[in-house]
Amino acid sequence: MACKSNIPIKTLNQGPFEAKVDSIISLMTIEEKIGQLNLPTSGDITTGQAQSSNVAKKIEEGKVGGLFNVKSVEKIREIQKIAVEKSRLKIPLLFGMDVIHGYETTFPIPLGLSCSWDMEMIKKTAQMAAKEATADGINWTFSPMVDISRDPRWGRVSEGSGEDPYLGSEIAKAMVHGYQGDDLTNNNTMLACVKHFALYGAPEAGRDYNTVDMSKIRMYNEYLPPYKAAIDAGVGSVMASFNEIDGVPATGNKWLLTDLLRTNWGFNGFVVTDYTGIYEMIEHGVGDKYDVAALALNAGVDMDMAGDSPTIPAAFVKTLKQSVDNGKVKMADIDAAVKRILTAKYELGLFENPYKYCDTSRPTKEIFTKENKLFARKVASESMVLLKNDNQLLPLKKTGTIALIGPLANTAVNMAGTWSVATKQHLSNPLLEGLKTVVGDKAKIEYAKGSNIDYDLDLEKRATMFGKEIPRDGRTDKELMDEALAIASKSDVIIAALGESAEFSGESSSRTNLQIPQVQKDLLNALLKTGKPVVLVLFTGRPLAIVDENKNVPAILNVWFPGSEAGLAISDVLFGDVNPSGKLTATFPMNVGQVPLFYNHKNTGRPLGNNEGKFEKFKSNYLDVRNEPLYPFGYGLSYTTFNYDNLQLNSTKMDTSGSVTISVDVTNSGNFDGKEVVQLYVRDVVGSVTRPVKELKGFQKIELKKGETKTVTFKLTVEDLKFYNSNLDFIAEPGMFQIFVGTDSNASLSSQFELTK
Ligand code: BGC
Repeated sequence: MACKSNIPIKTLNQGPFEAKVDSIISLMTIEEKIGQLNLPTSGDITTGQAQSSNVAKKIEEGKVGGLFNVKSVEKIREIQKIAVEKSRLKIPLLFGMDVIHGYETTFPIPLGLSCSWDMEMIKKTAQMAAKEATADGINWTFSPMVDISRDPRWGRVSEGSGEDPYLGSEIAKAMVHGYQGDDLTNNNTMLACVKHFALYGAPEAGRDYNTVDMSKIRMYNEYLPPYKAAIDAGVGSVMASFNEIDGVPATGNKWLLTDLLRTNWGFNGFVVTDYTGIYEMIEHGVGDKYDVAALALNAGVDMDMAGDSPTIPAAFVKTLKQSVDNGKVKMADIDAAVKRILTAKYELGLFENPYKYCDTSRPTKEIFTKENKLFARKVASESMVLLKNDNQLLPLKKTGTIALIGPLANTAVNMAGTWSVATKQHLSNPLLEGLKTVVGDKAKIEYAKGSNIDYDLDLEKRATMFGKEIPRDGRTDKELMDEALAIASKSDVIIAALGESAEFSGESSSRTNLQIPQVQKDLLNALLKTGKPVVLVLFTGRPLAIVDENKNVPAILNVWFPGSEAGLAISDVLFGDVNPSGKLTATFPMNVGQVPLFYNHKNTGRPLGNNEGKFEKFKSNYLDVRNEPLYPFGYGLSYTTFNYDNLQLNSTKMDTSGSVTISVDVTNSGNFDGKEVVQLYVRDVVGSVTRPVKELKGFQKIELKKGETKTVTFKLTVEDLKFYNSNLDFIAEPGMFQIFVGTDSNASLSSQFELTK
């Protein structure tokens, strides 16, 4: 992430469409210019009514630059027609949507997807999402969300790729390439939007939208890299975040949106606010409605999302004209913003053919197809993480009687997880259906709900919003449990489908309790008392503190929210048709008091020695719980076992123009073919500033037949050893570097080399 480096600063004047864009701008009135900066929600538009709606009138007047969350190609065609046939300058509209983890074919929530550590597959999910969304008229997605988060209290941890800047950067790149392809003018690729710029994943106390306060050195080294990776990958747009940075809201932060993003990083696409982000700056306390809109434009915002609504006073369309008149805003800055938006429209090919994404024959052929669903099933099974498997209880056999118990066992609408705007919730397959399909007539499946999601009805309602209700059972808790126990006690094995419902995580869904809800814990304990083997299938949108479950339940499979093909994919893993290979990308804490807890932390001056987790007075530890997490970053089991051996370095010295090649032999020493994510970590032993105890610097997902050995090699160059020092120069400092290789962030093998001058 070269901030003060020599990345050439691109300017808008380099684009091939410049002359055309300039000539359009020269024809525009100020109202039409401000109109291009306006991104209202579609609100009142339904098919057939587009012509008469309130938004339609604004489009006709040239006061809208794009719309978002309109679903259906027919509707979009109808609306685009208004823009290009009825507005004076015939400028086509952008159509945006939160296509976050798939479109109608829905993949696992992003946190789950990241646990696959499979960049090609992740890229393909974005490609498929783009294909489906563009078939339905959408040309712009508000994804990827690349906010690093180390705080599972924050509900939006579900929408990102976990805690690691290196892995997060790789995923950011893969997603941008997947959505945008090589050529944005194709009709099956779309504009991506990296969000939420910046640091949105670090709110105080994990409460959504809360204040962020962070040192620059942490920001540059640990939180900014994935955004930078998306910019370097050519992302076309950036969304400003809701939080403040150094006391200035991101939406009005010139240092962030201009100095860093455009001047240092060379970004030349456009910046959109998050939903009502401009208006919210009044609440932040940085000015009135005129001040905040001017602040946003002057900081580098180009497009105002959802400001143009009757209930929102502060918006570009409501204030900018006056601000130009009284000198708060320069016309040249408005022109620059308009130019960026028109350039994006050109790059998408909309000026050449505004109906490019409006082929009404595409949806039936391209959306939610059999082929797409098959891929979603594979992706889902690759993201699941096996957390525990005592005595190889898993994989299960397709025989006997299997009791499926739990409030998450039979809820299609919860399977896609949070932020799945386009998904057809009722068409996802729940676990009960998947099990029955995969098992066929080989075993008997008995189902009981067992409990509600939570004892607290109000909390349950908040956690099952947006059509994701799990109908509250009229029976008492005891009646529900008795029914479950009657079934469970007659079975050979119990599958307990427990955890969070989909909207327990996501936007504005922070929690202070990271445990499975008590009613479900009580159910689980009762099931364990039957003495039957219990497999916990854990649904969650965040790392949970499941110490009790880890202690008492023999097998735990974390399935996140797996998407459209949830039930089938979970069953594939439970019965061993797929050997699990997911690895955690976010640390699971012992309890909420340890949070924030992450593997790549700094040492202290009083680190706890290697004392097997015992408390030591005057060392950095807790009286009541160990420092270690429940499950570390990178952790995940397989039905087979992998043995690491023979770590070799081709040299113990490397100069700044050289490299070191590291190799390790990995053997599948168990009884199943399987996949393993081989992980490489580096520690910079002595630095001019303190450095993390280890940092991920490489990984490879490999496939090994049982008994097979492969030699895996990694190459490190000086680029991998660079970091931002206290002057924010991106440099590598000569000295010793330790390396660690293994199956998770507690990597067992280590060695070292020296970087010489
Ligand atoms: C979210 C964004 C999202 C936007 C548009 C906001 O509330 O923070 O992530 O893209 O809404 O739906």
